[in-house]
Amino acid sequence: MTDQDETTETTATDLTAKEIRKRKRRMPPPDPTPLPGLVDAHTHLAACGGRAEEDVRVILDRAEAVGVEQVVTVADDMVDARWAVAAAHWDSRAFAAVGLHPTHAADLDDAARAELTEMVADPRVVAVGETGLDYYWTTRSDDCADPAVQRDAFAWHIDLAKRSGKPLMIHNREADRDLLDVLAAEGAPETVIMHCFSGTPAIARECVDLGYVLSFSGTVTFTNSVELREAALLTPDELILVETDAPFLTPHPYRGQPNQSYCLPYTARALAELRGVSEEQMAETLGGNARKLYSVPLR
Ligand SMILES: [Zn+2]
Ligand SMILES: [Zn+2]
Repeated sequence: MTDQDETTETTATDLTAKEIRKRKRRMPPPDPTPLPGLVDAHTHLAACGGRAEEDVRVILDRAEAVGVEQVVTVADDMVDARWAVAAAHWDSRAFAAVGLHPTHAADLDDAARAELTEMVADPRVVAVGETGLDYYWTTRSDDCADPAVQRDAFAWHIDLAKRSGKPLMIHNREADRDLLDVLAAEGAPETVIMHCFSGTPAIARECVDLGYVLSFSGTVTFTNSVELREAALLTPDELILVETDAPFLTPHPYRGQPNQSYCLPYTARALAELRGVSEEQMAETLGGNARKLYSVPLR
């Protein structure tokens, strides 16, 4: 839906400023100019409205039309993990990552361990995660696993990544120091991807020195994300990825509106501008890294 479609129903003068803002928030951003070669390194297709096979196809068609050729859909809980694996089998452009989000770490019982171990062996599953530590929700939600439970589950996922040889997809919210300490104590797997990197430039430096991959979402485009842009600037070419984390974190100037994989070129272009390279070159670097790290075949 475009701006025009929305305003033809009711003229702006009939609406209060608050209603206009509310409508705008529900409005999907326009399709960006195509930027071929991209891979959305982290999205949540089901949460984007892609519950059924046909809906997944529609989301991926729209993404492909603007150059986002493949996506990794990431699980939060066991139901989501089963769904992500199914989606990756429905459509050749979708790959899955399975694991328990740190907020759901308490669900990691023996049955879940057995099932996740089995799922990770599926060739359409390209990463273990998202796992890690989330200290934001521990104080704000009664349902969130406490830090000790999160640490145990994180350690188990680290081991699963090592056993399976697949990349570890890390979620980190307000837990930089503990997260890096757990990784060091357990021994990091070969490929560590810091999804939606949100740390300081100093943490970014520490990560890249350890060879960890930093994946940047729409937050890197936000006007107040000065430190995050510094982090993106110091990340070497071989350790950078781009993701939507859709339906969240829609890039500037569409912040707060619904996000989907087709919005990825906005963030990729912002990274190109920041790093002073052509958008084509940036897309080749970002897409190439995703295909290599996730061992995703070229289509
Ligand atoms: Zn996350
Ligand atoms: Zn996510």
